[in-house]
Amino acid sequence: MTKANGYISGIYNYCDYWCERCAFTNRCRNFVTDRELELEMAAADATKPEPDDVTNVDFWNHIARKVHETAAFGKAEDWHDSIPDADDFEIDPDWYAREEATSAAVRSYPLVRLAYDYRARTAQWLKAADSDLKEIARSLLDAAGCQFDNNDYEAQAREIGEMLEVVSWYHTLIASKTARAMRGLLEHATPDPGLSPMIAGFRLEDANGSAKLVLMSIERSIGAWLRLREILPGQEDSILGLLALLDRMQRGVHAALPGAKAFFRPGFDGEPPEDD
Ligand code: SF4
Repeated sequence: MTKANGYISGIYNYCDYWCERCAFTNRCRNFVTDRELELEMAAADATKPEPDDVTNVDFWNHIARKVHETAAFGKAEDWHDSIPDADDFEIDPDWYAREEATSAAVRSYPLVRLAYDYRARTAQWLKAADSDLKEIARSLLDAAGCQFDNNDYEAQAREIGEMLEVVSWYHTLIASKTARAMRGLLEHATPDPGLSPMIAGFRLEDANGSAKLVLMSIERSIGAWLRLREILPGQEDSILGLLALLDRMQRGVHAALPGAKAFFRPGFDGEPPEDD
C-alpha cells in the first residue's frame, strides 16, 4: 500500500486527526493536500488586487488567472445549469427509512449511550473545574521563584495543560468513533438487501478499525485522568466517575468487537505491505 511517493494509503482513516502531533504528516495524502490548498489560498489572498487599480500588476495577474480558469472550466454563469439542485434528487423512501432506523439503533446502542454520556460529562467537568484549575495556576505562580525551592513549576504547568488537552481532544472523538464502530457492526449484522458480502465484510473491518481508535483514545484519556486526579484532589470523585465510564466502555468495545485489538492501522501499527 505504500507508493513511491511515500504516502501511506488510508492512514487518515483510523487516525485521531491530531495532525499537529502526528509523526506521519509527510506521508499522509490528506495532510499534504490540505496544506497545499492552504498555501494556494494564502498566495491567492496575498495577491488579491485592489478592485479598480488597473495600474497594479496584481490586477492583471488576477485577470490572467480568471482567463485561465474560464478557458479550463467555462464561464462561471454557465456553471449554474450544470449543477443539480437538491430538489432534483429523489430520495428513495425505503433507503431513507432504513438509514433512519439504523441511526436510531446506533444512538440507542448501550456502548454509544455510554460514549455520549462520557462526552457530556467530560465537557461539563472541563467547565466546572475552572475555579480549581485557576487556584492551581495561582499557586504555581506564587511558588515560582522562591529561593531554596527546586521544584520545576514550569514543567508542572505544562503537564497540566497537556493532560487537559488530551482529555479535551479525545472526549468527542471517542463518542463519534464509537458511533461509527457500532454502525459498522450493525450494518454488518443486518446488511441492506442487495449488499454484497464483500461490502458487508468491509463494514466489519471498518468497525474494528474505528473501535481500535476508540481503545487507543480511551487508554490515553485514562492516563491523563489518572494524572489529573493526583494534581486535583478536590476533583477525585468526579474524575473517578469518568474513569469508571471509560473502563466500562473499554470492556464493552472488547466484547462487541473482539477483532479490534488485532486491527492493523496503516502507519501507526507499522509499515503496511506493498500491494504492487
Ligand atoms: S494521519 Fe496524521 S497527518 Fe494525516 S490526518 Fe491523521 S493525524 Fe493528520
